[in-house]
Amino acid sequence: MTETTPQQTFANLGLIPTLIERLDALEYHQPTPIQSHVIPHILNGRDIVGGANTGSGKTAAFALPILQKVLQEEGQPRRGNLVSHLILVPTRELASQVAYSVKSYSYHVREKVKTTAVFGGVSVNPQMLALRGGSDIVVATPGRLLDLVSSNAIKLDQVKTLVLDEADRMLSLGFTDELNQILALLPEKKQTLLFSATFPEKVTGLAQNLLRDPIEIQLQSAEASTLVQRVFSVNKGQKTAVLAHLIKQHQWRQTLIFVNAKNACSHLAQKLSKRGITAEVFHGDQGQGARTRVLDEFKSGVIQVLIATDIAARGLDIEKLPVVINFDLPRSPADYMHRIGRSGRAGEVGLGLSLIDYDDYHHFKVIEKKNKFQLEREQVAGFEVDDDQSEAYFLPMTPRAKPAGTGKKKKKRQQENL
Ligand code: AMP
Repeated sequence: MTETTPQQTFANLGLIPTLIERLDALEYHQPTPIQSHVIPHILNGRDIVGGANTGSGKTAAFALPILQKVLQEEGQPRRGNLVSHLILVPTRELASQVAYSVKSYSYHVREKVKTTAVFGGVSVNPQMLALRGGSDIVVATPGRLLDLVSSNAIKLDQVKTLVLDEADRMLSLGFTDELNQILALLPEKKQTLLFSATFPEKVTGLAQNLLRDPIEIQLQSAEASTLVQRVFSVNKGQKTAVLAHLIKQHQWRQTLIFVNAKNACSHLAQKLSKRGITAEVFHGDQGQGARTRVLDEFKSGVIQVLIATDIAARGLDIEKLPVVINFDLPRSPADYMHRIGRSGRAGEVGLGLSLIDYDDYHHFKVIEKKNKFQLEREQVAGFEVDDDQSEAYFLPMTPRAKPAGTGKKKKKRQQENL
């Protein structure tokens, strides 16, 4: 992949003083690597494929050049229900976070820039009202955006910039059809910026079809180098006991625990509570208000242990999360990387820990293989694995049969479960 020489200041990257002033106020004194690499190219009108995680500063990397364009688009008033710059994201949390960031970068010039966030799970009416008169920037999840298109609340035929944020996640959550419908509504001529933490085939295929002569930028994220991964083998039925023991022993604060289904969140919270650990849950069935409250309390440290499903936790902007635990392994190896990427951000050392019992041994090997790493299996003192449950007893083994249900139905079931 191509790389440009990183530059040191926002001014060198070509940003205008009015944005730099605001960045100063936000104490963004230096661009992050992804910002140094992509901002000049975006300002030059190039399409971008960027490999970057949440935590790398990628929101500002695409938002600042877009804002600069809006501020420089003299004599092009907003009108009708048109949108000039469209940012597509996979989840509601990310939609509101990205919109919040964009608004904070343009806070001092807010009468000149209108940013609207549209996402599901909340009433559509205020969003329809907000879209009236047009928007410079719309941050949207695919499903709600299509609802708004079909009720004529928004028109996409004048979009100049399209951002696909967390493209891998968007596709792995099954938004391919929605995405294709949206792409068909956009004008042929536009600038497209695609950001993704991982590049499975579907994402590279999308990039090839969609982007024109893109600049490709793949950064080794800072978080990768400061993240310690560990895996503990445990006896079947002892995961909760081991988890409670570890949390107490290490006095972990701000611990994010992943499980694979909504109801598993509250089950685990109840079991931990019996062991004296208070945990909150975060999943797709909660109302937006509840999710925002939980997230704020987790960020501020009031909640120490948060049990979440993937869809809810994706894109959470929580700085310096010290510990992320896979209580259940994620189905996809890419999700494993997303999950542990929540930890050790912004140069902090973080821990990405997985608890595996004999049902997980084979799948964890697949995760290792796909992500090209291999970890030593560790055991927790006092919870040693019985001989007949140890990995050595189970491996090598024949691949397990795939669970029943494939394709769309399975995807839908997965989405509904999170
Ligand atoms: P993101 O990867 O966009 O989710 O950003 C991660 C965090 O880094 C956010 O809290 C941003 O406010 C912060 N951030 C982004 N760029 C910079 C910068 N140049 N200097 C300091 N903080 C930044």
